[in-house]
Amino acid sequence: MARKSESRKTVSDRRTSGSRKSVGKAPAKTGTPAAPPAAPKIKFRGKLLENEPMARLTTWRIGGPARYLALPADSEDVARALDLAQERGLPWVVVGLGSNLLVKDGGFPGVVIRMGKGLDRFEMKGATAIVGAGLPTPLLARRTADAGFAGVERFVGIPGTVGGGIFMNAGCHGAEFAEVVTEVTVMDPKGKIKQLSRKQIIFKYRSSNLEGIVLEAKLGLGEESPTKLKELQGKLFRWRKAGTPFDQPCCGSTFTNPSGTKTAGMLIDECGLKGFSIGGAQVSTQHANYIINKGTATASDVLKVIEHLRKTVAKKTGITLELECKIIGV
Ligand SMILES: Cc1cc2nc3c(=O)[nH]c(=O)nc-3n(C[C@H](O)[C@H](O)[C@H](O)COP(=O)(O)OP(=O)(O)OC[C@H]3O[C@@H](n4cnc5c(N)ncnc54)[C@H](O)[C@@H]3O)c2cc1C
Repeated sequence: MARKSESRKTVSDRRTSGSRKSVGKAPAKTGTPAAPPAAPKIKFRGKLLENEPMARLTTWRIGGPARYLALPADSEDVARALDLAQERGLPWVVVGLGSNLLVKDGGFPGVVIRMGKGLDRFEMKGATAIVGAGLPTPLLARRTADAGFAGVERFVGIPGTVGGGIFMNAGCHGAEFAEVVTEVTVMDPKGKIKQLSRKQIIFKYRSSNLEGIVLEAKLGLGEESPTKLKELQGKLFRWRKAGTPFDQPCCGSTFTNPSGTKTAGMLIDECGLKGFSIGGAQVSTQHANYIINKGTATASDVLKVIEHLRKTVAKKTGITLELECKIIGV
């Protein structure tokens, strides 16, 4: 259980301390019978924080603390974070930019592994992009467009990481990651790394059968004029600005679109729920599938809004909306 009263502290920070600190309690002194056994020491190149609020790490700006927050500097750190969870009998979860994530108010009582800097490789080999899971997707879209390669240019407005995008099979404007992924490198919960070819991966609408942690991927792209690609990106950006509350705290689409002709947003709108709010959480008046944090929203407010939308839409249309965003924590 995450202890809210504990202060946040850096238990390992190469950048501030200059030396590797170990995570773990000090060995028990002789003669102190109640002391628990010393936890194994863990070397960590990146940062390992305790009781870190997750609100800063999600685009909803909501969420209680992570018992441990690991910011790995490389794939060995990712394996060390998994070891930490295993040794302490804690759950773990991998996150990217938290742009599709609701962290409950009690926080996550285990190890949150956040993929970012250090795991954000970007390299073009011919028309193949080799990209780290921690690379922001908008950067991927811009860099490939600048280099004159098409395939991911339309993802410029998806504010997550490549790892989260591949796991979720994120997409927009008629394109999705599934179309360009040719190979994915994953780490399993035991820290073993393996390469999966495209044939081994099942992608569906906003989901995949990927397990473990996506570390890296190869994407097959095609040549295209940078000017043309950048023009398209400008157009799509203007579309987002006009049609979605993209600059307000939210997770993008809350629900997946059901099969049929009507989107989740249309169904919610037709039920008269635009602007509906509980506490600090409100259904956007601009796009009904977006729930925005008006500044004071808690996860509990958002969950209540979600529940109300699902019940009302089911009652009025017979359609059960399914969540696109992921919920973690207690
Ligand atoms: C304003 C806005 C607009 C958006 N527009 C779109 C859109 O047009 N299309 C779209 O598809 N989505 C959209 N989204 C949702 C979101 O950006 C995508 O789903 C994105 O791909 C999530 O990436 P992330 O790194 O933020 O993942 P997170 O939110 O951190 O995590 C989401 C899920 O992915 C898993 N995950 C994250 N990283 C990894 C990894 N390395 N390995 C394995 N699993 C991992 C997490 O465990 C979690 O289950 C939007 C969100 C916002 C806020």
